[in-house]
Amino acid sequence: LSEKLQNVMKKLSGRGKLSEADVKAAMREVRLALLEADVNYLVVKDFVKKVSERAVGGEVLSSLTPGQQVIKIVNEELTALMGKTQARINYASAPPTVIMLVGLQGAGKTTMAAKLGLNLKKQGKKPLIAACDVYRPAAIDQLKIVAEKAGVPVFEQGQGQPVKIAQGAKAECQRLLYDTLIIDTAGRLQIDQAMMDEVKAIRQAVGVHEVMLVLDAMTGQEAVNVASSFNEQVGVDSVILTKLDGDTRGGAALSLRAVTGKPIKFCGVGEKLEDFEPFYPDRMANRILGMGDMLSLIEQAQANFDEEQAIKMEKKLRTQQFDLEDFLEQFQQVRKMGGVADLIKKLPGGLANKVNADDVDERQMYRMEAIIRSMTPQERRQPEILGASRKKRIAAGSGCTVQQVNQLLKQFDGIKKMMKQFGGMGGKRRKFRGLP
Ligand code: GDP
Ligand code: MG
Repeated sequence: LSEKLQNVMKKLSGRGKLSEADVKAAMREVRLALLEADVNYLVVKDFVKKVSERAVGGEVLSSLTPGQQVIKIVNEELTALMGKTQARINYASAPPTVIMLVGLQGAGKTTMAAKLGLNLKKQGKKPLIAACDVYRPAAIDQLKIVAEKAGVPVFEQGQGQPVKIAQGAKAECQRLLYDTLIIDTAGRLQIDQAMMDEVKAIRQAVGVHEVMLVLDAMTGQEAVNVASSFNEQVGVDSVILTKLDGDTRGGAALSLRAVTGKPIKFCGVGEKLEDFEPFYPDRMANRILGMGDMLSLIEQAQANFDEEQAIKMEKKLRTQQFDLEDFLEQFQQVRKMGGVADLIKKLPGGLANKVNADDVDERQMYRMEAIIRSMTPQERRQPEILGASRKKRIAAGSGCTVQQVNQLLKQFDGIKKMMKQFGGMGGKRRKFRGLP
């Protein structure tokens, strides 16, 4: 999938101008690539429609080439398809939180139980793993080995009854104050009723808070089918994708969210315990598109796009509508652009010479920002109304002195005055930049 999409995108990015036909042709190839990668047909249809609409509808970002724009849209829509980042566990209000890992045999449940346990431990939790895959003695040994590596205790009763073991493990949590119980269950090679009934029984018996379905990403569309069955029969809260390290087609990640509506929370990217990651839709999209470099270029172009915003701001300044709200926005822009010194270089010619970078220190900027944040919207728009008592309140709210509030207001006034002067030079600059 990756390779195919990358080729389409490379072709696009080289182009100067794109016609509607170019976009159409590109979308046809994207569609094929997704279908070949086993992405669900309806998902593909919807995806291509969305991208085409946006691409042809001409969302124009003046600093990007048309090809870059399409890539940007494809990337954004891929990300959206996989949902928002939700790499969190739903903790129960009263411990222990019970997590049950379900899935087919070989999906990676046992490995994930240990990985999850290790991760929880790193977060300061106290997990316990219950060994409820009782059908093969080797399964319990395997769990014990990986859990020991992770330093997470295992509750087991040999080849006893899974439901009883889960209950026993929960009681153990209450007794020894483990706050999270991870239940490792048995899988079959294929979905069968006995397996479903068993996990359902465990779910009911111990009150599972989160059923996590572990899916092998290498199995493509089959993983999506498995997810649908589990969801219908047992109820699934979230998904873990394993084996994303392999030469996976990525199709599963793309359809899963759209088809099942369940978030992908974590992923396995190797056999070792450390090969565990929160699932980030944007990173996955980047990986599928393989356009990391191109995308960071696009991001840069987008940063430049903020320059257009700066021009808008300049206009406001010239017409004297500049208020503290705008001032605050400026601070945020400054931070985004990497600091004061950098910003001063970007100021329009006349101003840059008047401002000395050494006069503005960053700490002071943070203080100023805090002060403005402590003002009400009305105060930000009309600083004239700031009397002694309001100033006192603002100073207290921002952890500053009244003098510092006054100082900020003075600085703000100074800037406004400077802008007034600058307004006179506007004409020349406008012509120079070719603005209306
Ligand atoms: P279970 O049957 O669902 O409990 O699956 P296991 O945890 O026993 O894993 C089955 C096989 O997949 C084992 O050989 C694991 O080492 C391997 N495995 C699990 N997760 C990953 C992963 O993220 N990447 C890779 N490459 N292998 C994995
Ligand atoms: Mg297992």
